[in-house]
Order: sequence, then structure tokens, then C-alpha cells
Amino acid sequence: MSGFEARTSAAGSDALRDKYLDGLLAAGLYEDSCRSRYEAVNYRHLSPYKPSAYLVQKLREYEDRHRRCAPHTNAYKKMLPLLTGGVAAGTVEECKYLLWTPFSGLGNKIISLTSSFLYALLTERVLLIDRGRDFSKLFCEPFPGTSWLIPEDFPMKNLYFNRGDPLSYGSLVREKGIVNPLPSFVYAHVVTDFAQEDARFFFEEDQRALRGVPWLLVRSEVHYAAGLFLNADFEPELSRLFPETETVFHHLSRYLLHPSNKAWGMITRYYHTYLAKGKERLGIQIRIFNHENSPFENVSTQVVNCLMKEKLLPEIDLNDPQVVPGRWKIMDVIVTTLHSGYLDKIRSIYWEHPAAGGVLVSVHQPSHEEYQLMDDESHDMKAWAEMNLLSFSDVLVTSAWSTFGYVGQGLGGLKPWILLRPKSPALQEPSCVRDISMEPCFHLPPAYLCEQKMDGKRGKVAPYVTYCVDVEGGLKVLARNNEVP
Ligand code: GDP
Repeated sequence: MSGFEARTSAAGSDALRDKYLDGLLAAGLYEDSCRSRYEAVNYRHLSPYKPSAYLVQKLREYEDRHRRCAPHTNAYKKMLPLLTGGVAAGTVEECKYLLWTPFSGLGNKIISLTSSFLYALLTERVLLIDRGRDFSKLFCEPFPGTSWLIPEDFPMKNLYFNRGDPLSYGSLVREKGIVNPLPSFVYAHVVTDFAQEDARFFFEEDQRALRGVPWLLVRSEVHYAAGLFLNADFEPELSRLFPETETVFHHLSRYLLHPSNKAWGMITRYYHTYLAKGKERLGIQIRIFNHENSPFENVSTQVVNCLMKEKLLPEIDLNDPQVVPGRWKIMDVIVTTLHSGYLDKIRSIYWEHPAAGGVLVSVHQPSHEEYQLMDDESHDMKAWAEMNLLSFSDVLVTSAWSTFGYVGQGLGGLKPWILLRPKSPALQEPSCVRDISMEPCFHLPPAYLCEQKMDGKRGKVAPYVTYCVDVEGGLKVLARNNEVP
């Protein structure tokens, strides 16, 4: 039985393996134009996490609001003059917008987009995204019967604002203190070079002031959801939406991010060609940030040490037993990395010696692009496909600091082992540690936020927010029963 068949039959029936993900996805839409939306569930590990009934209700309300306020509706036309400093035409409708603009690598874009959707849900805004170079080619439209793309005829052409811009929230606070009312268009700089005033974005008083802004633009490269949990006004609602606090990215990424048919074709072709045979699947993501501290020999030893020590791969049987054909068990391993060499290193372990227990280890790497490119459609398509293939794993090993890995773990609902980032050219010890939750880490949160909102290692209003293990000083949401003592 192939892994795919095993997954579908293990699930037993459609009733068990619910393609609507327990109500997370609205029913009956985009079946052909977006195959991944309802098919992905058959490829992933069965998620033990169910969305709360309240989240499902809020998503349906969001979808109604989005349809009502979408570009070119009457409500949108009324609000449009406010974007450029005019007054709303006619009676003001209840439509407020969150404009999101892509920034940094694909993983960064995905985590910041997901946090922004969470923020839009919390503040009853309509999320509209700047499609950038290739966003609409990689993803399906997530909201039924409408579009999340900023239309081509949008009057504001350049959505790349900087923190020094007079309309950035930080600049407004610096100039005038916290003011209410604010202008009808404000830019929120949620980028890791935060100044103290930019960091005010996370505070209660500031969010109350921002509530009245009809057009809010956000640029970010981080999963800033953990910062929203630290806001005392937001925390009760967030806890209601996500009683299992560590599932924010897991649910929202599965709700929002559906590979386009082109990307899904790549994903499923690769899966059925190389990964469908085994009963178990291991994903390994290797990301090198600092080549000087990460020579190939050391990193490959680190990876193998991690896999062996944590028993993620089978041991070698030095007695060279003969495996009876047909009696072996296949384990599929997918390696994703920009670089060559790691695949061979892992493959050769089991080429030179058999694995214990009659296991055949089948190792594959979809691409080795060698260099990171920005906003290149074919390169991004491969990256997006590989994030999804990682999410099909039963067990995952990712690299510290990598948002690419965060996307795979979140979509898969997996708490990975993390390959720690070497701080010197010496061999990294320990090689890896188990993560403390599957939520992505909020990298480099503002010092001001941590000073004000953290009490030692735990969040003041959300004791289940703590520091990440893969990124020093980063913030992370844990499962509630894992609260930091
Ligand atoms: P991060 O830099 O690891 O946090 O992840 P990002 O996704 O934000 O940026 C890294 C970019 O490098 C990706 O978007 C890809 O373009 C590329 N990249 C990094 N690792 C891989 C990989 O394993 N496979 C592929 N195809 N591309 C990768």
C-alpha cells in the first residue's frame, strides 16, 4: 500500500478525513480552479487540532465582510476617497481595510501575511494584498466569491512605505504622541528594524487609536502574532478564537494558503513519483545563513548526528543481513535545501550498509537552486512546492531561524526538531533540539515590547508566550498547558 493510500485508508472515510477541515474551509467552492484547497488534506498527516466553533463562525463572518467590502463594491467606492485624504462619499459603511505588501523571502512573506490576516480578523478589517511579482501565480484566492488582490486600478500605486514616512504610525507618534483621530491612511511598520515608536503598534492605547483608521497598510517580514497575544485588549478574543493557543499559524495557513493549480501539479507529481511508496515520511530542511560558520562537512555531520541521536532514521546494521525482497519497509525522506551534497551524504549511509529492521531508506531532494533569488516566479514556485512537500511529513527536522521551515511545520501541524545555527566554524553541539511549539517564532521583536510586556520568560497577559529556542530573543506562542512557570 502506498503512503497516499495508507493515509486515505487510515483516515477511513471522507467523514473522518474531512476535506473542509472541520469547518475551517467554506464548502463547495473552487473545486476545479483550486484543487489543492480540498485535496491537500489527503496528503498531510491527520491533524489532531480542530478549529474552534468560534473561529469557524468568525471566518464565515469575515468572508461575508470581504464580499461586501471587496474592490469595486459600492462600500469600497465610498471608502476610496479616504485613502488619499478626501472624505468618504455618502454614508460611511462599516468597511475598514488592511493593505498588505510583500517583503523579503517567500517564507517571510507567508508568515507576515498570515499574521496580518489574524490582525484583520481581530480588528474587523478586510485584507487586501499587493500581488507583488508572482503572488497570484502561487496561491489561489482564499475567500469564496471575491478577491483578496488589490485591484490594478487602485489609486495608490506605490505601497512600499518606510518607517520614516510621515504617514508611518511611528512617525505620527514621534511628531504628536498618540493621537486620535489619526489620518485616514496610516502605514504600520512591523519590520524588525522597529524604532520604539513603531513598536507602539502592539500596545492597547495605540490599537484603540488605530481602530478608527479606515486604510491601514502593513509591511512586515515576521510572524508578529505573538506580539498581538501580549496586548491585553486582544488576548481574550485570541484565546476564544484559538483555545489551543499554539495552533494559530496551523489553522490560518491551512485556511488561507492554497497552492495554485500549477504549484499543486508540481507538488502532487513529485509526491506520487518519489514519496508515495513509504509508510513513514521524514522531512529535512537545511538552511545555511552564514557560510563561514557552516562548512559543508560540519553541517552534514550535524544533520546526521541529529537524525541518528534522535532515532529519526534507522540505525545501520553492521552484520549486513539480507533483506528478503518484498519484506522490507520503505521510509521516504525528503531533503529541501538550496545546496547539493546533503542528499548524497544521507543516501550513502544506506547504500553502504543496510538499515536495521529491514527498512529501505529512499531519499529525495526536489531541487538545489544554489542561490536564493527574490521575486523570481519559477524559483518561488519551487520553494512553495517544497514547503508543501515538507508539510506532508510525519516527522520534520528544520533549520533554526528559517521561515521556510516554519511554513512546512505549520501547514503540517508538526513540532519539528531544530538544527541549531552554528555560531562558529566548529561542529555545532548539540546538533538539534525539539521545538517547544509548532508556532513560528516572532524574530527580533522590539526590545521595548519585551521590556513592557514580558515578565521574565513569560508574557504578562499571556503566560503561554515565551522566548523561542531557535532564535535568541524571539517570541513564541506555546500550548496553554505548556505555560512557562
Ligand atoms: P528563510 O530565509 O529561510 O527564512 O526563508 P525564506 O523563504 O523567507 O527565504 C529563503 C528563500 O531562499 C526561499 O523563499 C527560496 O527562494 C530560497 N530557498 C531557501 N531554501 C530553499 C530550499 O530548500 N528550496 C528551495 N527551492 N528554495 C529555497
